[in-house]
Amino acid sequence: MHGTKTLEEADRLMTVCNSCRYCEGLCAVFPAMEMRRAFSDGDLNYFANLCHACGACYTDCQFSPPHEYNVNVPKTLAIARAESWGAYAWPRAFSGLFARNGLAISLIAALSVAAFIFGFAAVTDRQVLLGIHTGPGAFYTLMPHNAIAALFGAALLYAIVALAMGVRAFWRDIGEPVGMLADPGSLWQAIRDAGSLRYLDGGGVGCVNEDERPGDLRRIYHHLTFYGFGLCFAATSVATLYHYLFAREAPYAWWDLPVVLGTLGGIGLLIGPAGLLAEKFKRDPALVDQSSTGMDVAFIAMLFLTALTGMALLLLRDTAAMGPLLALHLGVVFALFITMPYGKFVHGLYRFVALVRYARERAQMAQGAPE
Ligand code: SF4
Ligand code: SF4
Repeated sequence: MHGTKTLEEADRLMTVCNSCRYCEGLCAVFPAMEMRRAFSDGDLNYFANLCHACGACYTDCQFSPPHEYNVNVPKTLAIARAESWGAYAWPRAFSGLFARNGLAISLIAALSVAAFIFGFAAVTDRQVLLGIHTGPGAFYTLMPHNAIAALFGAALLYAIVALAMGVRAFWRDIGEPVGMLADPGSLWQAIRDAGSLRYLDGGGVGCVNEDERPGDLRRIYHHLTFYGFGLCFAATSVATLYHYLFAREAPYAWWDLPVVLGTLGGIGLLIGPAGLLAEKFKRDPALVDQSSTGMDVAFIAMLFLTALTGMALLLLRDTAAMGPLLALHLGVVFALFITMPYGKFVHGLYRFVALVRYARERAQMAQGAPE
């Protein structure tokens, strides 16, 4: 007996697939399945997070609907994946947020924080909002740097703790001691597999779309989003070092490192999420978990809005639009931070951890070690 109906169905499908094994070359899920004869809840959640939702095993399957076996691995694992994030959420009382974390919640959070910053500035000095401010420290006429750092530092710290606790619960459930996450060989293999999105290629032909013609666009847009996010994070980190180590205050010149990194990252975060959204609506509805659409769209939209408001701020920072745009940008970033542990952002972390587990299993198999 499994904990949920979804896991019961996943067990049924994995039992069929383990007899068939036709798809073993498509991705990591099937080889991981073949290492087992029976599947615990943790094993099934591990497979679910190892799956990259390329759809190949649905179109290749001779037992997919209308066959009576009704084998639909991508959809079942997508539902199991979303349910697993709720089950591992920290604190547990917030696990229901995954189901409610739609675009409206994120936008309300973003606009509330933007309104708070806007109101804060209006109360402090009404002229600040509409004036033109240039040169070092211009951004901090709206709100002091220390206040921004405290507000966003607290939100980021909470997100990191909540994410770490969720990942810890997942890692324990899939049967690994916490210390094994630091196994260098497995970590390096997982970094390579995640960095190249190795298993989002449908076994070499690409992801399946509504017209059943596979393509590589989802992988390309994922790369732009992931590396765009990384560059924006690097830009913020460098700017923080500038501020505290060298007493250099933002905004910086267009050729300075934080601006160059932020601009490149911003371009990636505009094109990547827009492309992912377009690709999302081209997918065969039979393959996807429709109940997660709100959460998926919210995350994609918040990434896009982060880049859009950031790039608008960069272009218009020497005009009177700087104050409202900065308030809006900070509001969107704050909303992104606080919704991160309870939305689609977690898929990257859980998938990475599953890849570490898979790399470790493969290494153990190669050495002939007992499971
Ligand atoms: S998805 Fe279908 S074809 Fe692929 S291994 Fe499972 S039963 Fe076989
Ligand atoms: S959808 Fe793609 S990644 Fe997921 S199990 Fe099927 S082939 Fe593997």
